[in-house]
Amino acid sequence: MKPLLTGMLPDELAVYLAMKPEFRAKQVFEWIHKGITSFQEMTNLPQDLRESLKDVPVLSSEISKEAVSEDGTSKITLKLYDGSFIESVLLIDDTDRKTACLSSQAGCAMGCTFCKTATMGLLRNLTAGEIVEQFLHLQAKYGNISNIVFMGMGEPMANLDEVIKSIEILHHPKGQNIGLRKITISTSGITRKIRELANTELPVRLAVSLISADESVREELMPVAGKEPLKQLKESLIYFQRKTKKRITMEYVLMAGINDRKEDAIKLRHFVDDLKVIVNIIPWNPVEDLPYQEPDEKTVNSFITMLEDLSIPVTKRYLKGRSVNGACGQLAVLQNSSDSSDTSRT
Ligand code: SAH
Ligand code: SF4
Repeated sequence: MKPLLTGMLPDELAVYLAMKPEFRAKQVFEWIHKGITSFQEMTNLPQDLRESLKDVPVLSSEISKEAVSEDGTSKITLKLYDGSFIESVLLIDDTDRKTACLSSQAGCAMGCTFCKTATMGLLRNLTAGEIVEQFLHLQAKYGNISNIVFMGMGEPMANLDEVIKSIEILHHPKGQNIGLRKITISTSGITRKIRELANTELPVRLAVSLISADESVREELMPVAGKEPLKQLKESLIYFQRKTKKRITMEYVLMAGINDRKEDAIKLRHFVDDLKVIVNIIPWNPVEDLPYQEPDEKTVNSFITMLEDLSIPVTKRYLKGRSVNGACGQLAVLQNSSDSSDTSRT
């Protein structure tokens, strides 16, 4: 596969396109990030340069499907250069702020038992350009985006180099100029990579799918926990926090009868001691054939009250995007089907 223009910073474009003077590459970078998809339309480039590049594709992916839910959440399915499919989601909050929920991999190898993406297994890592293109497609369709969360398909820490590269590109002032503090990386808890991210000293936010602070429950739900016990996870979070001084989000997918008991709240209290966190309660989104039940409203509220009584800062994630299967943990696409409307249903 050829390197993608969307995966390059201006100086890399200059080298790749052999551009002289170099400011031409900056212009190309600016056009790409304004959403222009052909060299013909880059009107401040000399005519002969535009002509010579006219057959060079700017994007490697295309939208094959779009679904808009009544709550304003939109999901796009992208077809990649090799025929694989991924999904990306646009979330709009009450203040009209738009957040891109990006995928870092096609599928996921982590095998969490409650997550639909896990059922696909891992097809491959995405390149930085493929990550950036998700943002470009979403922005072209829905307008200016201010925030990014790596909470789509895949485990960002298992593809950290490309994720960081995409962040550098999306942060570049001549392009999207997205603030690093407005970018959140969500991980199931690969501790070596949490430390590696901390060492970059990028002030991005970290979210951790804790799910349960009970060792055996977590192990049952998340194979990664079998290799990386809670103690090890916590040490890596303390390290991250020492380096970045940032509050960490603990994602707690609440499943009825699994992790909603008083003792679960108490274990959570112990886990977050010595950490500055906010716990995000995400009522489990139903996934067909998975043996879990979404908690009813009463259960969700009483668990939240238990956490509040234990002085744990807590928020609840809205159940957005369900009608388009674009809510957390509902992303999965049947691959290489001639009809991408085969998006599996929940
Ligand atoms: N792999 C990363 C990021 C992608 S998953 C991670 O695990 O953090 C994004 C979020 O969706 C995570 O918080 C995950 O715990 C949550 N999630 C997975 N399946 C879910 C489901 N069925 N219902 C609600 N949230 C789910
Ligand atoms: Fe992968 Fe995250 Fe789903 Fe676990 S919850 S299978 S890490 S996408």
